[in-house]
Amino acid sequence: MDIGGFVMTDSHPQPNTQQQADFIKQLKTTFEKMPHDIELLLFTQKGREDAFAEGARQIVRAFRELTPRIRLREYGLDHEMAAQYQIEHSPTLLIAPDRFGIRWLGAPLGEEARTFLETILMVGSGMSGLSEQSKKVIANIDSTRQIKVFVSPSCPYCPQQAVNAVKAVIEKPDLVSLEIIDIQSQPEIAHQYSAHSVPQAFANDVLIGMGAQSEEVFALSLSRLDPQTIFIPDSDAELVETDLLIVGGGPAGLTAGIYAVRSGLKTAIVERNVLGGQVATTPVVENYPGFTQVGGKTLVDILVTHALQYVQIYPGEDVIDVVPGKPPGKPFEVTTGRRRFLAKTILLATGANHKHLNVPGESRLSGRGVSYCSTCDGPLFKGRKVVIVGGGNSAVTEALYLHHMGVGVTLIHRKDSLRAQEFLVRQLTLSEIPILWNTEITEITGKERVESIALKNTLSGESTSLAVDGVFLSIGYEPAVELARKTGVALTPEGYIQKDAKHRTSVAGIYSAGDVEGGYKQIVTAAGQGAEAAMAIFEDVINPYWQKS
Ligand SMILES: Cc1cc2nc3c(=O)[nH]c(=O)nc-3n(C[C@H](O)[C@H](O)[C@H](O)COP(=O)(O)OP(=O)(O)OC[C@H]3O[C@@H](n4cnc5c(N)ncnc54)[C@H](O)[C@@H]3O)c2cc1C
Repeated sequence: MDIGGFVMTDSHPQPNTQQQADFIKQLKTTFEKMPHDIELLLFTQKGREDAFAEGARQIVRAFRELTPRIRLREYGLDHEMAAQYQIEHSPTLLIAPDRFGIRWLGAPLGEEARTFLETILMVGSGMSGLSEQSKKVIANIDSTRQIKVFVSPSCPYCPQQAVNAVKAVIEKPDLVSLEIIDIQSQPEIAHQYSAHSVPQAFANDVLIGMGAQSEEVFALSLSRLDPQTIFIPDSDAELVETDLLIVGGGPAGLTAGIYAVRSGLKTAIVERNVLGGQVATTPVVENYPGFTQVGGKTLVDILVTHALQYVQIYPGEDVIDVVPGKPPGKPFEVTTGRRRFLAKTILLATGANHKHLNVPGESRLSGRGVSYCSTCDGPLFKGRKVVIVGGGNSAVTEALYLHHMGVGVTLIHRKDSLRAQEFLVRQLTLSEIPILWNTEITEITGKERVESIALKNTLSGESTSLAVDGVFLSIGYEPAVELARKTGVALTPEGYIQKDAKHRTSVAGIYSAGDVEGGYKQIVTAAGQGAEAAMAIFEDVINPYWQKS
């Protein structure tokens, strides 16, 4: 059983088992000291085989083995308690219903075990752990908010958003309530809200967030009942001084963090989203030395566990501004949604963002059948018909992943041959996944959700249409250079960060590493560049080249 991601599920090297034992011990002590016992009520449809109900029982059982402070009572949907709590769906888990309005529709499995663990700890302690900035925003809410967060067990982005919502309930239990809805267990509710990607958050039936938001942005969206994209902290926000601030917790940033701290630099990593960057959503990695085959998520767990032994990581914070110190050579002032940093040097390891097709219907139906993450959203399309667009390694990997999970997938490629590695192409052929060659999507259509796509043959110009339930886009990535641009860092004609052999950019004291620099864009190269950059930064901090005339 995976509790908090510390127990690995596949047959690859386990992260340090001593760490697991220490974690379990620490967890038991934390449970013992909790001021509140936690009562869980599980409602299920009696007499029906239900894998989700069994999953919910198993995860609760696993937690109860750690502490007697958690109590579970189970009722059928026809029991008077179900009527009292207005329970309609099986399974529904109520968490401390005497104190909070938190209900879980489905089972907290996979990635969601993390959310469940954090929820139990917050409910048991009675503390939300919200930042001071978020607390101020939540304090201003003066009418009820009924939140729904749609999640799935395979979505690495979901725990961040679900935990944001739990924190809001713990902070304001009189006005805020929450349903965490597993879309695999409750597809009809997802359908009703046209939620075909995860995570998606609604409050009072208004969409307030698609994808994971930082805690502060979520709080603001909840308060305003309108999706927000940025949060500027108040001037009294915490100030952290550091030698090196790394923007991005992908392979480049995490590796740089390990090297920098081992060199003796005071270092912080800020990551706005899920740690591990693109690897967190990669189904399988087969070319990282030391592992013949490893799940992207497993590799991230190993990387993050290693990095955390050295470096302070600030997850769920978006770096929104970097202001060079004045005069040059003075520390940079870096602003996130939660605090400010004074940093002698900055490493931009911001990686890459997925590209858009830019065809009519794409943005309107994003999250309504248009998806950029097969790992997150693939399970929603089991037994249904989708297309995946692209011709490179990622597109082929994702097509195979969807096919093996039982999704009816067709690959669409605008050329007549794939750019993917031969090994992957062979697997694609063996899996008999249909391919539409020389074909482009010109429009994605559907009222509430994707219903069909318009296609054009690039050779003959012939137009056709195809009825589909989903469109997965894997047409490449573009460097995430918004912050570099804002800071005046020079870019190459191709749009990557321009740097020298020591990863120094055009702005003294700012460095780069990983996919944002272009090149081969692999995990191993990103990690290598992160290591190189950290060592160069160490040399420059003790002997600043920008102070030499
Ligand atoms: C589907 C898929 C399959 C792949 N398969 C393989 C494979 O099998 N083998 C292989 O070697 N490579 C593979 N890759 C490529 C590999 O994942 C990338 O090369 C690698 O992740 C790049 O690492 P990075 O640290 O440079 O960037 P990223 O992994 O992109 O990480 C950058 C991080 O920076 C964060 N960030 C950006 N801006 C900000 C900001 N303003 N504030 C805070 N944080 C910010 C992002 O949220 C992100 O987490 C695959 C990629 C994809 C998408």
